[in-house]
Amino acid sequence: MTAPVTRFAPSPTGYLHLGHAFSALSAFTASAGGRFLLRIEDTDHTRCRPEFETAIYQDLAWLAVAWETPVRRQSEHMSAYARALHRLVDAGLVYRDFRTRREIMAESANAPHAPVDVVHGAPLARQEETRLLNEGRAFAWRLWLDRCRSHLGARWDALSFEADGVEMQADPERFGDAILARKEFPASYHLASVHDDALQGVTLVVRGEDLREAAHLHVLLQALFDWPTPLYRHHRLIAGADGKRLAKRDHAQTLRGLRDQGATALEVRALLDLPT
Ligand code: GLU
Repeated sequence: MTAPVTRFAPSPTGYLHLGHAFSALSAFTASAGGRFLLRIEDTDHTRCRPEFETAIYQDLAWLAVAWETPVRRQSEHMSAYARALHRLVDAGLVYRDFRTRREIMAESANAPHAPVDVVHGAPLARQEETRLLNEGRAFAWRLWLDRCRSHLGARWDALSFEADGVEMQADPERFGDAILARKEFPASYHLASVHDDALQGVTLVVRGEDLREAAHLHVLLQALFDWPTPLYRHHRLIAGADGKRLAKRDHAQTLRGLRDQGATALEVRALLDLPT
């Protein structure tokens, strides 16, 4: 196997907690003999804060994780994600959805078993779309799954990836027509993350099993853009002492909270059942 390139890609929307430490340390360990990248996924300027980004560097240094510089900060590359989106627009593989979440929910009330997030649709007629655009209405760019299928032809059926050592058939249908961008916001997490993994030559994506499903969509995006598919590895999620999922809000469980309470980086590794 060639030397792995792994990454840790946090969003600076809060302080890192034990779950992030597990992700970062797992990806770092998996990069042995290869390269480890840190990527700041800060496209959502309404939720990201500079002090959280500073804390990411401090917390990772404390954990003795070493990353390459310069660090890629997604907020500095929004035009690259917009360009990628426009490749899909030009190929007719996305459409504008002007409906609000409430409207979509009302429509899916007729099909009560369909989850509201799983949307299948198609573009509006040109005239209607022009009217809504002229009104300045907001919209989401959705992947037009039916078109993607015909665009890829036989490649659609061959969409696959390796996750945790097992060859998987990709099933992008489970996401429906996923939102890739919004009117004034060129990049969803999915688009920006898959774009950057390809651009940065990431060969092994290590992340929590809460993102296991996402690979099914990411593999489709890789096929549409002719980007390589990395290997995927998922780790268990770390629960707090109360057995609940850790949240960035709960200071006591953040890495800096643990540090304030006198914990050492080695103790954090021990808490995570990692070799010390
Ligand atoms: N920014 C994402 C998060 O913090 C990263 C997910 C990924 O590793 O792809 O959840």
